[in-house]
Amino acid sequence: MNHAAANAGAASLHHNYSPSLVLLSIAIAILASYAALDLAGRTSSSEGRARYIWIGTGAFAMGLGIWSMHYVGMLAFTLPVRVLYDLPTVLLSLLAAILASAVALLFVSRSALRPGPVLASSLAMGAGISAMHYIGMAAMRLPAICVYDLRTVAASIVIAVVVSVVALMLTFRLRTVDSELSAPKIAGAVVMGFAIASMHYTGMAAVSFFPSPLIDDISHSIEVTSLGAFGIAIVAGVVLAVVTITSVLDRKFSAQAAQLALSHERYRLVFERSMSPLHRSTLDGLILDCNDACARALGYDSRSDALAARARIEFIESADEENYSECLSTFRQLTDFEARLRRRDSRPIWVLQNANLVDDSASGTRIIEGSFIDISNRKEIERELQRTKQHAESASAAKSEFLAAMSHEIRTPMNGIIGMADLLLDTTLHSEQREFALTLRHSANALLAIINDILDFSKIEAGKMAIDPIPCALDTVVYEVAELLHGKMREKELDFTVRYAPSLPSRFIADPGRIRQVLTNLIGNAVKFTAKGSIRLDVEPVEADASGGAPDSASDSAQDFASAPKVVNVKFSVSDTGIGIPAEKLGSIFEKFTQADASTTRHYGGTGLGLAISVRLAELMGGKMGVHSAVGVGSTFWFALPLALDNAAPDSAAPQLDLTALRILHVDKNDGNRHTLSEQLKYWKLRNSHCASAEESLSLLRIAHRTGDPFKIAVIDDQVSGADPEALARAIKSDPQLAGTQLIMLSSRGHRGDARRVSEAGFAAYLVRPVRQTFMLEALRAVWANAQTPNEIHPLVTRHSLGERMSQAATQAPSLLPSPLSSAETKQLEPATALAAATRAGSAPSTAASNTAPRLLLVEDNAVNQLVASRMLQRLGFTVEFATDGKKAVDMVAAKRYDLVFMDCQMPVMDGYQATEQIRRTEPHGRHTVIVAMTANAMQSDRQRCLDSGMDDYVSKPINKSEIVAVLKRHLPASLLQPSEPLLQ
Ligand code: ADP
Repeated sequence: MNHAAANAGAASLHHNYSPSLVLLSIAIAILASYAALDLAGRTSSSEGRARYIWIGTGAFAMGLGIWSMHYVGMLAFTLPVRVLYDLPTVLLSLLAAILASAVALLFVSRSALRPGPVLASSLAMGAGISAMHYIGMAAMRLPAICVYDLRTVAASIVIAVVVSVVALMLTFRLRTVDSELSAPKIAGAVVMGFAIASMHYTGMAAVSFFPSPLIDDISHSIEVTSLGAFGIAIVAGVVLAVVTITSVLDRKFSAQAAQLALSHERYRLVFERSMSPLHRSTLDGLILDCNDACARALGYDSRSDALAARARIEFIESADEENYSECLSTFRQLTDFEARLRRRDSRPIWVLQNANLVDDSASGTRIIEGSFIDISNRKEIERELQRTKQHAESASAAKSEFLAAMSHEIRTPMNGIIGMADLLLDTTLHSEQREFALTLRHSANALLAIINDILDFSKIEAGKMAIDPIPCALDTVVYEVAELLHGKMREKELDFTVRYAPSLPSRFIADPGRIRQVLTNLIGNAVKFTAKGSIRLDVEPVEADASGGAPDSASDSAQDFASAPKVVNVKFSVSDTGIGIPAEKLGSIFEKFTQADASTTRHYGGTGLGLAISVRLAELMGGKMGVHSAVGVGSTFWFALPLALDNAAPDSAAPQLDLTALRILHVDKNDGNRHTLSEQLKYWKLRNSHCASAEESLSLLRIAHRTGDPFKIAVIDDQVSGADPEALARAIKSDPQLAGTQLIMLSSRGHRGDARRVSEAGFAAYLVRPVRQTFMLEALRAVWANAQTPNEIHPLVTRHSLGERMSQAATQAPSLLPSPLSSAETKQLEPATALAAATRAGSAPSTAASNTAPRLLLVEDNAVNQLVASRMLQRLGFTVEFATDGKKAVDMVAAKRYDLVFMDCQMPVMDGYQATEQIRRTEPHGRHTVIVAMTANAMQSDRQRCLDSGMDDYVSKPINKSEIVAVLKRHLPASLLQPSEPLLQ
């Protein structure tokens, strides 16, 4: 600087600013500031060498940017003389800019912003920028001297320092902003750009040029034109852009790498912290990596221990290992694989394994990634359960055996008690003795019923109750139970209505024995818990319902069984007007040993097992059971069974003789009975009316006569309002207009001598309730047939005469009746009903008919049983021979021909099964001796064992007369049976 010239008052050179270059310089300043802000992020987030590379590259780019801003700014300053620039000095000024930028970047890459370093860095940076500026000015070579205004120079240096403080603070704050185009960053860059430019232009304002000859050495100088200025700007811009783009890209990649590292770290932690054992291992079990849980499960203290010890997944069973490897190599995956592994201390553990076979890119081999759960405790519990189950099963089996043995033991003396009571009752006794003997027999039967219940229940509980479906006539089963229990109702003077829905077919494949058992229990309970009123049994088809509630009755007429599905849901309901059951007890009465009111037990008796057995039997047959009840009103117990139709058998019940012209009047006080019969008659397409009283009936009969369409038949119940049925019959018969009406009496009582009385009163038929549909139809037919020959004397039509008539008809027109019972069904029938069944079905004898007296052999070792059975048979009119063991029996059968052998099963020397097998082996061809087991073993399996050994039938002890008679009826030809014996009639 030459202050003398300036002070001499020489005019300074006139200068100008080129606006475009000024703008360009500001733009470069902003761009450099932006690059600084962006680079700061990189320098602070990178570490080690990368950091210094970033600082170096950044400092160069930024320095170049600031420097070029400065030079473009200087070039914008035009003077009327030629201006050259000394290259070494220019480069020096560039170095100053780079160093200033390096200071700035170094500072902003620090972790914290503290005042001391801010000040120091700002001073350094400000000094650097100022140095760059004034060194740059010193590089000018022109024919003038430059004179500086020191105050303005100082102001420019202060501005440089302030600009540096602002720049550093801004950069520090904005270095973490990742987005490239964020507003704060751009704003920051603009502020910084203007601040840097302001420093430059303040510096330029500090100088004035006065003409003076060029005395400097210009050998290293160059002239920079405006074009050159643009060149500098472009180079600087490109360098800044490249660095900024690199920074942006680096930030992106770094962000991704950081994400990757983070997620890797996260998964690593999940793997390590997982409570379930995880491992990566080779196919032969070597663990490549595992977590602590896996290490501990295998008996190591930690993961590092396990890895250091080169732990292995070691199977105890080689078969498990083979399976494991095979599954993995076949499916590359394995789930819930149970196996035993060996721990480090050789202790075995049970594990549940899941694994994948994966290709490991690092090693180029296949490895297993797996997890397992230690299930040793669960396995121990399972084993314990298994042991407990086995114990329970063997205990249950032992219980069953015990029960079978006990049952056998109890039945043997019971046989003596009941048999002897029976025999005693057949002798002449005075009334007190008879009463004692009856009580004895009654009590023994009650005890036997309890034993049977307990045995049945334990069989069901032990899962040994077998359901044995066979073709059978369901209506017969139902009516047989009804007939059997009707006696009890008569004793209590209860009305009994039985309705077997007319549209319900007769033949089904079902277990008649079990259905009978359930019905007997339900009706038995109804009788027991009803003091007065009525009991009603309904059997009808219902829609199978999925809801689990009581099935609703299906409309009879709507059912077309010709096209119906093979299975019909049949609902059996037993309703009574008895004591009812409180609502809170309804849920529990199906439990074993449960009674609705324990205090009534003494009054009504019972074990509380009947319903428990019934509901389980219903379920075993695929059905369900339920109850509706109201205290003081009555109860309805129902069960519904899906029963398969027996399509092989033709169904009965189409009237053969055309009765459709008949009008029938039914007189009965009981609504239920009237509706049931009416429904039945309608189903047969017979016109009918009904009324409750005698008076009404007479008037209906008279009106019908007057209208020329008289009632041909009147069915009169023994319960008629206003008169007794016999008086009504007499009234009808004594009226000449009505005398032609045929009268059928339906009695609920069935006393001895009734037949004669009702016959005298004018009845043509006498039937005892409950009347089966087939009997009713047959009675109508018989009465109408008889009415066609009024001059002949016709005996009273009774159930007995109908039975005979029907069995004759059955041989001629079998379709009229349910087909005879199959032998399987006959075998299942209860004794008393089997007799009736055998009679009705006219069962074919299995031995050849002969007119000689039947010879029976009784094989029995127990003296009491011998006495009971032989006396019973003798009283029935048979000659009985004895054998006391199976061996003797075999010899006797070989020596002589017997019509029937009663064979005990358990005997000394040779038991009944062996004896039967031997008899069957040695029997001449064409001869078959009927052998009937007589045993106290009451289990189903025992029965099967008898049949398997070659026996034909089975009676269980204690024997009773009706059962014996039923068996004889089944197996002996009618000609051999003594007609004089009342039971055999
Ligand atoms: P129990 O041998 O005692 O009759 P059940 O299992 O057959 O055993 O019946 C259980 C209980 O259910 C009976 O004790 C009685 O309280 C009640 N119960 C069963 N049927 C009827 C009914 N028809 N009316 C009233 N209560 C009944």
